[in-house]
Amino acid sequence: MPLLKPDLRAALHRSMGADLGMFEHALEQPPPVSIRLNASKPTGDQGEPVPWCATGRYLTERPVFTLDPCFHAGAYYVQESSSMILEPVFKATGLSGKRMVALDLCAAPGGKSTHLRSLMSDDSLLVCNEVEPKRAHVLQENLWKWGHPNVVVCNAQPDRFTHLQEAFDLILVDAPCSGEGLIRKDAYAMEQWTPALVRECELRQQRIIDTIWPTLRPGGFLIYSTCTYEACENEEQIERILSDHDAEHVAISGLEELGPVRGKNGIGLRCLPHLVRGEGQFMALLRKEGEWNERTAVNATHAPKPVDDPVLPLLVRPDELDFRLRREVWFAAPASHSAFIDRLVHATDPIAPGVPVAEGKAKQWRPHPALALSRLLDTSSVPVIPLNTQDALRYLRGEALRASQATGFALMTLSGLAAGWAKGAGNRWNNHWPDPWRIRMR
Ligand code: SAM
Repeated sequence: MPLLKPDLRAALHRSMGADLGMFEHALEQPPPVSIRLNASKPTGDQGEPVPWCATGRYLTERPVFTLDPCFHAGAYYVQESSSMILEPVFKATGLSGKRMVALDLCAAPGGKSTHLRSLMSDDSLLVCNEVEPKRAHVLQENLWKWGHPNVVVCNAQPDRFTHLQEAFDLILVDAPCSGEGLIRKDAYAMEQWTPALVRECELRQQRIIDTIWPTLRPGGFLIYSTCTYEACENEEQIERILSDHDAEHVAISGLEELGPVRGKNGIGLRCLPHLVRGEGQFMALLRKEGEWNERTAVNATHAPKPVDDPVLPLLVRPDELDFRLRREVWFAAPASHSAFIDRLVHATDPIAPGVPVAEGKAKQWRPHPALALSRLLDTSSVPVIPLNTQDALRYLRGEALRASQATGFALMTLSGLAAGWAKGAGNRWNNHWPDPWRIRMR
């Protein structure tokens, strides 16, 4: 860890006060390695629990994740442990188990989205948005691998959501920030830091919050987080929301013993690397004034189904799904959220209005790679080829696999987890693992 730049050190001194020495000492220690397990894709437990997250685990060393087939099949997400305080903050909303629609506005690469998706009830809908197109595609890949069906992915500026007034029960703004909390892990975080960047981030965060606030339902919740220590991007940002909007602060209790501390003036939570086993993180919970009522499930307005589609019999409960065609890909989404998704499509043109299940031209449909990884797939409806670790790595590198008599599409499984498709061609299985996802490492 290189020495702190003088102006950054001065800024950190303002944030940490007398704790700066302990903080600097913590920066000299190696960053902890942590993952969050995907409870819907169990492959065995490992590691030491992260105290504030039921599925969070610390690992004793950093494995080469790229060479672990389970990583590619979505069995876990590699995530910095302090970010996982999303779990107690979400629980403080009281929305656990409730039917809801949530928006993760600044979502890529998807750490908090995949976590939030696991915390929400299965019948809820999560809309994940990312403004940067390339990052939106990484977000999409991570959500597909996570495998939950009730997810829509958008690539839109926040103001595109303003047509959806009072639409969301929960909004997560994991805001772009000056990144001070990452300096131990990421040399670039220190390199890019300037006082001007802090000011720029503060103003951008303000714009993002003011734009998205009207889309929150009365009685709904906003979770605001950053990975910086700057009060102007954290507690002061919350104080400003409290004075400009119909909001109240919700304090998070029960974490005092575990390391995260209250922020300035009792606002939000701060994770500091000398007090927790993790990096820097700030998170606060706000509630919009008004009464909140749980959404009732509405009867589906069935969109056209790809009726000639040979993929339909591969789906679990296709009658509960609606299908939308976008650029030669059929997307499946819960019919009970159809009316909402239609409004979302109109406002933001999502890049994935559901889970893609089939792709192709005219009637030449083939199963989409995301379907293999999704809970929407009825695995008893397809031939399954279990791969050993060596063949799994060959498959993930994009190689064809030898066969004796291979025909049609088959599902390749790795350590018991569904991963992707291969198409039989007599004495070999042709590889349908997407090219951009292939392992390049030898
Ligand atoms: N929530 C993500 C996770 O847990 O993996 C990390 C999000 S990162 C801290 C902030 C994201 O905000 C970045 O992906 C960035 O591209 C996006 N962003 C940048 N400018 C933005 C803006 N003006 N409005 C919304 N999002 C923006």
